[in-house]
Amino acid sequence: MKRKTFIGGPEGQVISAWLNSLAPERRDPILRLVRLAGKFPLLEDTRTEIAKEVADTMRRWKVGTYPQIVNTESGGYTLTWREDWNKKVPARQVQAFFAALKLIEWGLLARVKQCARPECAKWFFGVLPTMRYHDKQCQQVVEARDEQRRERRAQAMRNYRKKKKEKKQRTVAA
Ligand SMILES: [Zn+2]
Repeated sequence: MKRKTFIGGPEGQVISAWLNSLAPERRDPILRLVRLAGKFPLLEDTRTEIAKEVADTMRRWKVGTYPQIVNTESGGYTLTWREDWNKKVPARQVQAFFAALKLIEWGLLARVKQCARPECAKWFFGVLPTMRYHDKQCQQVVEARDEQRRERRAQAMRNYRKKKKEKKQRTVAA
């Protein structure tokens, strides 16, 4: 079976894999970005906070290049660029962070979300904005549960009406 690639899909998968590997309650800039982006579709403008989070993280991680002047033996100078990078930051986290930046630019970071089945809560990339479950199985489980709940509620309502009717009949008979 051929799998279609969707815009943002590969990046979304990198981010989801990273978030799924995090220990619960871990503080993580990617997690913070995803949460901030998730508020935006709910009409809360978090763009300033997102920009700040990115800037703060870059400062902390010391990601960047800076120029350096080196004296040459012939008496001149050479301009070189040095990479400055906090080597303690895992490569996978850096990758997930840059993937998040791409999705932010494309306006797609809010598509990275947690599965709506509470026992699952896995992170995934929703190809469509309406997607709520990380896979078909989780969707079916929740839908079946909702169906049972509706059925129980309907049954309870039928019982209630039946009792009410019986009570009325008894009152009339008395
Ligand atoms: Zn799930």
